[in-house]
Amino acid sequence: MYRWPEALCMGVPGMLAALAEVPGQLAGSIGNLFLAGDYMGIPSVNGALSSGRRAATAVADLLASTTG
Ligand SMILES: Cc1cc2nc3c(=O)[nH]c(=O)nc-3n(C[C@H](O)[C@H](O)[C@H](O)COP(=O)(O)OP(=O)(O)OC[C@H]3O[C@@H](n4cnc5c(N)ncnc54)[C@H](O)[C@@H]3O)c2cc1C
Repeated sequence: MYRWPEALCMGVPGMLAALAEVPGQLAGSIGNLFLAGDYMGIPSVNGALSSGRRAATAVADLLASTTG
């Protein structure tokens, strides 16, 4: 469990729309590179976790397609 001092992550107008474009901008630019982090979606612990799950699934899918 992490405890933060009281604080708020401030977002500027347009931030979520800009964030939504990040995965597409990076996709396929470097082969076999799978990125995860809160910058890949909603900037929160849940966003970081779900991006990690997506990246792990993509790695597993790639490995299954190359070894199967
Ligand atoms: C004050 C504050 C309060 C917050 N409150 C909440 C909250 O209540 N709820 C919530 O869901 N989220 C909250 N967040 C957001 C949450 O902390 C982040 O969204 C989440 O931690 C992002 O996880 P991450 O793994 O993507 O990145 P990070 O947790 O930032 O992890 C990235 C890691 O990479 C390391 N690193 C960076 N550069 C390098 C390098 N070149 N080489 C090696 N390592 C490197 C860093 O040291 C760090 O350990 C808060 C954030 C802050 C700052």
